[in-house]
Amino acid sequence: HRRWQRAAELVAEFEEGCGTPVGRLKQVVDAMVVEMHAGLASDGGSKLKMLLTYVDSLPHGSEKGIYYALDLGGTNFRVLQVQLGGKGSNILKQKVEKQPIPQELMTSTCEKMFGFIASKLKQFVEEDEESREGTIETRALGFTFSFPVKQSSVSSGVLMKWTKGFSIEDAADRDIVACLQEALTKEGLNMQVAVLVNDTVGTLALGHYHDQDTVAAVIIGTGTNACYVERTDAIIKYQGLLTNSGSMVINMEWGNFWTSHLPRTSYDVELDEDSLNRTDQGFEKMISGMYLGEIARRVLFRIAVESEVFGDVGSKLSQPFALSTPLMATMHEDESADLREVKRIVEQTLQIPDIPLKTRRLVVKVCDIVSRRAARLVAAGIVGILKKIGRDGSGPSTSGRPKGQPMRTVVAVEGGLYEGYSMFRDYVDEAIVEILGDVAQYIFLKTTVDGSGTGAALLAAAHSSNR
Ligand code: ADP
Repeated sequence: HRRWQRAAELVAEFEEGCGTPVGRLKQVVDAMVVEMHAGLASDGGSKLKMLLTYVDSLPHGSEKGIYYALDLGGTNFRVLQVQLGGKGSNILKQKVEKQPIPQELMTSTCEKMFGFIASKLKQFVEEDEESREGTIETRALGFTFSFPVKQSSVSSGVLMKWTKGFSIEDAADRDIVACLQEALTKEGLNMQVAVLVNDTVGTLALGHYHDQDTVAAVIIGTGTNACYVERTDAIIKYQGLLTNSGSMVINMEWGNFWTSHLPRTSYDVELDEDSLNRTDQGFEKMISGMYLGEIARRVLFRIAVESEVFGDVGSKLSQPFALSTPLMATMHEDESADLREVKRIVEQTLQIPDIPLKTRRLVVKVCDIVSRRAARLVAAGIVGILKKIGRDGSGPSTSGRPKGQPMRTVVAVEGGLYEGYSMFRDYVDEAIVEILGDVAQYIFLKTTVDGSGTGAALLAAAHSSNR
């Protein structure tokens, strides 16, 4: 009985530490707005980098022709071809080829890395043209490069730092598009890099192509990030910035957002201390797929040590990242009366056999707390963006609209965590309603798929001369 009491205490403590009552969520919303302002005021003004993308127009559905894209940002890279039929006809056809990047290239030289990519692209384009029995004169390429980049135009930019296991030293201070363009020329491939974007911008572009009320995009996968359309006059750090549309997409790099209003527990502190990027990506460490399972594991491990409700635990539960987020989600969503999925996963993955039903319920509760906090913080972040651009119902009404009636607003959302985890999605929706009340009926989160690559091809179409 005593050991149950301790376990219950630990869960209750954790739940309290993760608390996100609506009052606190609103504080997070306001902090997000403040940090967005600060990041737009000066470089280094906030933990939010608020990077300029130079994307000033988004695809709207009337683009026509054949466009290509390259998507580089993880262990795989993808080559795509998108065929657009013009107004009212949507994406006619699409081809995608996924290629793993040889490990040794990730730490080689620009020439080797981009040479490899260019040769694969050439092969893809040749095969594609053969199958279509036709070539195009100017081939426009969209390049999704999901690393932090300081851009100087829509088709140029310098890498700020490598992440995700990449480390190509001679890429420092070099224009990443120039590196790629050089490799394309060497391959004898007549192709122009029309746009350089990151994955969130691709997602926004795809969302906007299908629905022009789309104003922001959020990615919730292994990591998390967001971008949105900002008025150029609000981008204080770049005075005199002129675009045709009067606006520009800003890449927030919101994974690094931080405010003291975030509900942080001792488990979060320890996770951060044990991480490779201490004090970095604080928001991401509470939200994204890389971390949710790990937070739950840390809580379960402490319960195991202090209460013995798991019996004699072996070494598995003490091992960092032993519990992945998809498995955590599966346990959370186990609807069987005897929670047999929970039993199976705890047994197979954490090597703790035969836990009683009461303990299984406790495991589910821990998953629920972790996931609910993450989802509600995502909701607060999204509302923060909407508030910044006056789409939260507090801004002035626009002409032609009854006074006070909010505009229909769409946010494109993408990523394995959001797509694959329905309870997470439900918690996000629920929190948006709690924060915004009636205005929430004008806000739509729409899941996009493959926006990171497809969106780049669409942007190449929107930004190239033969549109
Ligand atoms: P990435 O972000 O790595 O480019 P994805 O957007 O596909 O790729 O996201 C993959 C991540 O999403 C995984 O690392 C995992 O943490 C999380 N994930 C994938 N499927 C699920 C699921 N069914 N439930 C919860 N999380 C999931």
